[in-house]
Amino acid sequence: MVKRVFITYCIDVDACAGWINTRNGSVANASDVSRGVFGANVGVDRLLKFFDDNGGIKATWFMPSHTILSFPDQMAKVRDGGHEIGLHGYTHEAVSKLTEDQERKVMAKSIEVYKDFTGKYPKGWVAPAWEVSPKSMQILEEFGIEYDHSLCHHDCQPYWAPDVADTVIYTDYSQDPDTWMVPMQQHKVTKVVEIPGSWNIDDWPPMQFSIRNPGTHGFVNPRDIQQQWEDQFTFMYREYETFAFSISIHPQVSGRSNIMLMHERFIEFLKGHEGVEFVTAATICDEYV
Ligand SMILES: [Zn+2]
Repeated sequence: MVKRVFITYCIDVDACAGWINTRNGSVANASDVSRGVFGANVGVDRLLKFFDDNGGIKATWFMPSHTILSFPDQMAKVRDGGHEIGLHGYTHEAVSKLTEDQERKVMAKSIEVYKDFTGKYPKGWVAPAWEVSPKSMQILEEFGIEYDHSLCHHDCQPYWAPDVADTVIYTDYSQDPDTWMVPMQQHKVTKVVEIPGSWNIDDWPPMQFSIRNPGTHGFVNPRDIQQQWEDQFTFMYREYETFAFSISIHPQVSGRSNIMLMHERFIEFLKGHEGVEFVTAATICDEYV
């Protein structure tokens, strides 16, 4: 059987939003914010050139509204280059910390900004930092968003996103254990297609140093990361006739010189496999439905 492998570059243009929103209420640091400016300007330009140099690949760029409104000319280059644009919150807020009403309000506002910017209705969303709330899939369904890219039930096969709110009883230590000693229920499926993400194919944790975030490293050799990404691809290519391989990157990380060189090597590795197609997440969603 002929292989069909969908490769998507999913680019989170967090820019300054992810630094301004410090997640814990602390004051944003101006030096951190400058790294976001680098991403929106230099990183975006380098990645756009990289895709053009590789046959005009179209990627999916998830943009917080804050990025669209703060860097309109840079984001217009992405839009006018024919790439897909997806939702990524307003200020990269931690969705899991929002109330349901706040989450709905942020979704409505980011759709409004998206429509003004693109003239279209958005098709996909990725939760900032891949942290969804128990209601996120319901809210996406309600707003008519067709795909999500935040869950990890599989690592290379799209599926219908489950409505996690109805399937999990969370451990509440303030209550009697009998109230939460319950197994998971069968997933109730939503109409939202899940294009799974993977922290293991993400540039941020290994290659973005953050003095305030112990979950990041920043000094891992890109050649080691390239090897890890290649090994994951090699296994999937051997085991599946068809699969989706989503690469999650950030212009402020991947736009750095040594990591751009890693991408140049990695894409040659990918192109060397028969049946590989570089597509947007929207295309994967359409193929799945
Ligand atoms: Zn992000």
